[in-house]
Amino acid sequence: MVNEQIEDYVFHRDFSKTYPIITHGKGIYLYDENGKRYMDACSGAVAANLGHGVEEIAEAMAFQAKKAAFVHTMRFETEVLFQLAEKIAKLAPQSLKKVYFTCGGSEANESAIKLARQYHKNAGRNDKHIVIGRWQSYHGNTFGSLSAGGDIKRRQTYTPNLLNFNHVHSPNCARCPYQREKEDCEYKQNWSCVRDFESVITEIGPDNISAFIAEPIVGSQLGAVSPPEVYFKEIRKICDKYNIVLIVDEVMTGFGRTGKDFGIQHFGIVPDIITFGKGVSAGYAPLAGMIVHDRIVDSLIENSKGKFVHGFTYSGHPVSVAAGLSALTIYEREGILKNVQVVGDYLKQQLFALKKRCPIIFDVRGEGLLLGIELAIDGERGTPFPEEFHASERINSIAMDLGAVFYPGSGSINGYLGDHLLISPPLTVTTGEIDEMVSILENSLKIYFEELKEEETYEITK
Ligand code: PMP
Repeated sequence: MVNEQIEDYVFHRDFSKTYPIITHGKGIYLYDENGKRYMDACSGAVAANLGHGVEEIAEAMAFQAKKAAFVHTMRFETEVLFQLAEKIAKLAPQSLKKVYFTCGGSEANESAIKLARQYHKNAGRNDKHIVIGRWQSYHGNTFGSLSAGGDIKRRQTYTPNLLNFNHVHSPNCARCPYQREKEDCEYKQNWSCVRDFESVITEIGPDNISAFIAEPIVGSQLGAVSPPEVYFKEIRKICDKYNIVLIVDEVMTGFGRTGKDFGIQHFGIVPDIITFGKGVSAGYAPLAGMIVHDRIVDSLIENSKGKFVHGFTYSGHPVSVAAGLSALTIYEREGILKNVQVVGDYLKQQLFALKKRCPIIFDVRGEGLLLGIELAIDGERGTPFPEEFHASERINSIAMDLGAVFYPGSGSINGYLGDHLLISPPLTVTTGEIDEMVSILENSLKIYFEELKEEETYEITK
């Protein structure tokens, strides 16, 4: 507790836990009230992409707050809104030219799902309303985005409330959900993940399907898994064939995180809508949104008298937008993308080296500074930890004791089994800091391994 005189009225994220109270941060470090230092090896939730304590962003926000802290976008707009929209649109793939702002990634995906629906409805395609998402993906916690996502554990409690959306598997060649070998798919040019997508469309009826939503590289649910190279090209063709809006969720991957401005730029296709969040303001203010293809905007102007039947009080909030503008200015000026590429490669090499020394790492993956390790009780064969071990959570809590925080996840194999850690430090990280991070990670894994050996269940399960 910060001050014993303050009573606890906080609705905590998890009432069974006590959380360190953070007083300040600088660079990639956070400090708690007892002076303990935590290396932020996951940028909070892959959001604090420029690290902590960046005064330039704080000042840009204060400057805007003093000028005009809030205007309602139903009545007014601000100069910063135009400036940030221009910067974002110029980073995006061709033809994605209009930027819509929300506060968080879930709202961004809700907006994209609704826009896709309105786009079809306005053109007389009245039945098109179903979204196809993917298992082991995450698009947010509001009902629409949760319905589109495929995190089995997060969906469970709310199943009766969820929308009637469909799902296909996310490609994960290291553990193919269709039990195929990547070489075989490649050799035969026959990808089950692609074929399944088309089969589901024909089963539901293309006239009922409004949109397909996917993360370019799956973040929190799979721990930084990229699809095979051809995947999005094939998906793009199928979406074109059946007039399905392709929404690419770049809430985690956008703004340089994977070594390109947007993750989808690794795969050479142009989506219809990109949703973004987190890194756009480097976590300094709630800010997210979507970048929309001209074709959809033109149709809105033509068929709906220009009006999107949607909106939030805080859409385009001037202080958040000022934070975004400042963050994007810094990314560009400081050559952050280059740092991600160079330091990201270095981190990946260190993780591959660690895998050789560590018996409980099964896989190292990801792009840029969105990297993941999959943990297994037998790293060589990939035998997963039993779910009840909560292996990734436990390893992360050991790491926090040792002074670093990672992003643990589970369920990557089938929604229940499969533990991983995301390693996604601020994009400003240096190779020296990476060495310290990998050393804490290695020590945490060693301590966990020792704990396991003391557990009677270890031998039995293995
Ligand atoms: N999409 C993806 C890919 C995400 O990683 C997240 C957040 N982890 C979201 C959507 C939801 O964003 P928010 O928590 O800001 O609503």
